[in-house]
Amino acid sequence: MGAEKIKIGVIGVGHLGKLHALQLKEVAEAEFLGIFDIDARRAAEVGRELGIPVFEDFPALLEAAEALSIVTPTTTHFEYARQALSAGRHIFIEKPMTETLEQADELIRLGKEKKLKIQIGHIERFNPAILALEPLEIDPLFIEAHRMANFNPRGTDVAVVLDLMIHDIDLILSFVKSPVAELHASGASIISHSEDIANCRIQFENGCVANVTASRISARKMRKMRFFQPNAYISVDFLEGFSEIYYLDRGDFQFGAANLAFSLGEIQKGEEKRQIRYTRLEKKDINPLRYELQLFCRTILEDQPPRVTAEDGRRALRIAGMILESIDEHTALVKKHWKL
Ligand code: NAD
Repeated sequence: MGAEKIKIGVIGVGHLGKLHALQLKEVAEAEFLGIFDIDARRAAEVGRELGIPVFEDFPALLEAAEALSIVTPTTTHFEYARQALSAGRHIFIEKPMTETLEQADELIRLGKEKKLKIQIGHIERFNPAILALEPLEIDPLFIEAHRMANFNPRGTDVAVVLDLMIHDIDLILSFVKSPVAELHASGASIISHSEDIANCRIQFENGCVANVTASRISARKMRKMRFFQPNAYISVDFLEGFSEIYYLDRGDFQFGAANLAFSLGEIQKGEEKRQIRYTRLEKKDINPLRYELQLFCRTILEDQPPRVTAEDGRRALRIAGMILESIDEHTALVKKHWKL
């Protein structure tokens, strides 16, 4: 491409799109063009507040841009993405990627045909707590994930699996390098029309099991993922942005910088005595959204594969769909049994 900066605009400036615009203004690799929103009043308000240009229609922004960030409701992702790719524009699409797998397949096909970059907004991959794990070899036997949020009507147009759990699904799929063998899920709709709480047990072909819980009606916020593997227990706190590790030291565990590390004592394991160690990894001072968008621009400039590809977005969507089907089956069973 040759250029030092990518000409980029944002479509949809609701809650998250406004933050995209705010962060893109700060990305050195981006020439931020402006925004478009179907709600002209909202667009004008955001334009005024952030001091950024507002495009009157989508074709005008499409024409000016090399890349677009699509932050509209999920039902509209496909059509914007299709038009942008057809016009030769790179795209960043918020999660969930599309409504259906067929739509995801069509975007992947178009992206390949046109040799364009597609990145999906699975932002937790850029959470400092996850970035701190990069030097470690994560090969879990068991994963426990909890994502509990207070109730907020925003996002309730889709089930909690597509709204919140999909973050953990994507992360788990990025760590466990094995196909899903089977899964069993249950869920309940308490306040909204779709499930507000869900739990799923995913078993992978390599034997790893992930127990994933998501709720959007929790009194207490919690976003944690815990990995259990033969040499370590790793706990990730997404809200606090840090990770900690308990491990039996054999000198084979490599870390990045730690800001707290001590020995918890010694234990006899088989023939050997081993140190039980605790390490709290150093928290990187990174804004996940800015970093995610910056890497998207770099991906285009350097012609590299995106950190979160369209194939990753499709995989997360497929597993989310399987979870929703399993919840439906379980709900039918429960209704029959309880004569609800
Ligand atoms: P929102 O309702 O706050 O904002 C959506 C905006 O899109 C509104 O301003 C609306 O006017 C505009 N819009 C609606 N239809 C449009 C159309 N056809 N063309 C142009 N603009 C249109 O929603 P939100 O919470 O900002 O969510 C937007 C997207 O981001 C969704 O896909 C959601 O799943 C995703 N999201 C991702 C995360 C994350 O953690 N990555 C968090 C929240 C939302």
